[in-house]
Amino acid sequence: MRESHEPEPGGPERWPVAGGPPFDPERFRCEGRVVVDWIADYWASLPTHRVLADVEPGEIAGRLPAAAPECPEPLAAVLGDLERIIVPGLTHWQHPGFFAYFPANASGPSILGELLSAGLGIQGMLWTTSPAATELEGIVVDWLRQLLGLPDRFRLGGEGGGMIQDSASSGLLCCLVAARERSAAVGPGQGVVYASADAHSSAVKGAKIAGFPAAAIRRIDTDGSGRLRPDLLEAAIRDDTAAGRVPCFVVATVGTTARGAIDPVAAIGTIARRYGAWLHVDAAWAGTAAICPEYRALVVEGAELADSWGTNPHKSMLVNFDCHCLWIASRHALGGALSTKPEYLRTAAGDSGAVVDYSDWQVSLGRRFRALKLWMVLRMIGAETLRQRVRDQVAWTAEFAALVALDPAFEILSPPSLALVTFALRAGDEATAELLTRVNRTGSVFLSHARVGGRHAIRLAVGGTLTSRADVLGAWGVIAAAAADPDPASKERGPGAGER
Ligand SMILES: *Cc1c(COP(=O)(O)O)cnc(C)c1O
Repeated sequence: MRESHEPEPGGPERWPVAGGPPFDPERFRCEGRVVVDWIADYWASLPTHRVLADVEPGEIAGRLPAAAPECPEPLAAVLGDLERIIVPGLTHWQHPGFFAYFPANASGPSILGELLSAGLGIQGMLWTTSPAATELEGIVVDWLRQLLGLPDRFRLGGEGGGMIQDSASSGLLCCLVAARERSAAVGPGQGVVYASADAHSSAVKGAKIAGFPAAAIRRIDTDGSGRLRPDLLEAAIRDDTAAGRVPCFVVATVGTTARGAIDPVAAIGTIARRYGAWLHVDAAWAGTAAICPEYRALVVEGAELADSWGTNPHKSMLVNFDCHCLWIASRHALGGALSTKPEYLRTAAGDSGAVVDYSDWQVSLGRRFRALKLWMVLRMIGAETLRQRVRDQVAWTAEFAALVALDPAFEILSPPSLALVTFALRAGDEATAELLTRVNRTGSVFLSHARVGGRHAIRLAVGGTLTSRADVLGAWGVIAAAAADPDPASKERGPGAGER
């Protein structure tokens, strides 16, 4: 990271003066290089940062002016403040020691794709507003469909299709509204939504936004491995139909957040079909693992019964946030539910039905050109490397889990599911929570927690762009050392704390 915010040797022309037209090609060229260099330096310096920000609430805001400047400032001044004020208040998601939540990894090609998207500055809301944006999106999402081995019913140009949304949460919400409309016979409050007790919070949030009252949201219990129990699902649906309610939307999760459990999608889909409910498969995290043929059966099994299936290349497929790929079996069902075409959005192409106007398939009207970054990752990194990364991450997670299992103070709470494992101290929830706090305070790693089998679990999710085998095994070193030395003071003040 640069130390100084002064102009670099080489003359002031490297730091153009502020002001001037909002887009001056020469100035942009110059400032763009500085920013790209800054990003490259940031990534090179990542291992030297503390992963988890160590600031108090309000600390960063307190260092920022309360009002915007009247006069233009030079890039150097802004970058200087970025380094001095903002970066120390960041949790570094691209740090090789980031093992919390799920990864949100970025890569060189995806960052460049994002930059190109901003540079082009187009809106792809309608086919007409940028035909190539819509058509590239259709193509790259179908490339990914084929790489994942998703069924033909989602293919480009068929009854269904695929698209990119901002998030799995938005994708689920749109499908839920389509499901609600499809069961049009339902009176207000009569439709019911089903998801496992371990399903992602976005299922309940989506149901709330779509107007389902809390009493119409069923959380179905899971088995000992965290998977939705189809027998309980069917029993709940039977009770609801007997009471005159209409089963509307069933969420099957492929890779739960707590422990990576994979619901029995085929069994769930069979039940959903039997009762006329929409099946949505939430494979936000685990879905992209299906690029490896050996995980395909696990991940896409039952997809041919799904009305919609979504995954997040922005989690561990090296595409920076945001990039959720959603496939639907019936473009008519989704477009029919969401499309509202006032005169100002009507076009000859859209009216002809020959093209997709993707804004009809999502919440917002405006659309970013997200296909570019997915295109760049698939072309410049390539499927073989993406597969190898999945295989490595799964193997390293298994190695990590084997080390945990060997330590008598620890126990595995859920065995590795792809690149996610959960574990705890045998000493109990309080000791586990306290250990996690101390581990994260070292600054060298960041792990998060979940509830697994009623216990407080530490989660290790592997998937960072820079994370290597040494980082994963090193994380166990940090955890084991913290468990062996419960004196937090020595950890915090020891030399080199927070460094790797
Ligand atoms: C991450 C995740 C989500 C939410 O993803 P967003 O794209 O941030 O909305 C939903 N479901 C599962 C299973 C997830 O892992």
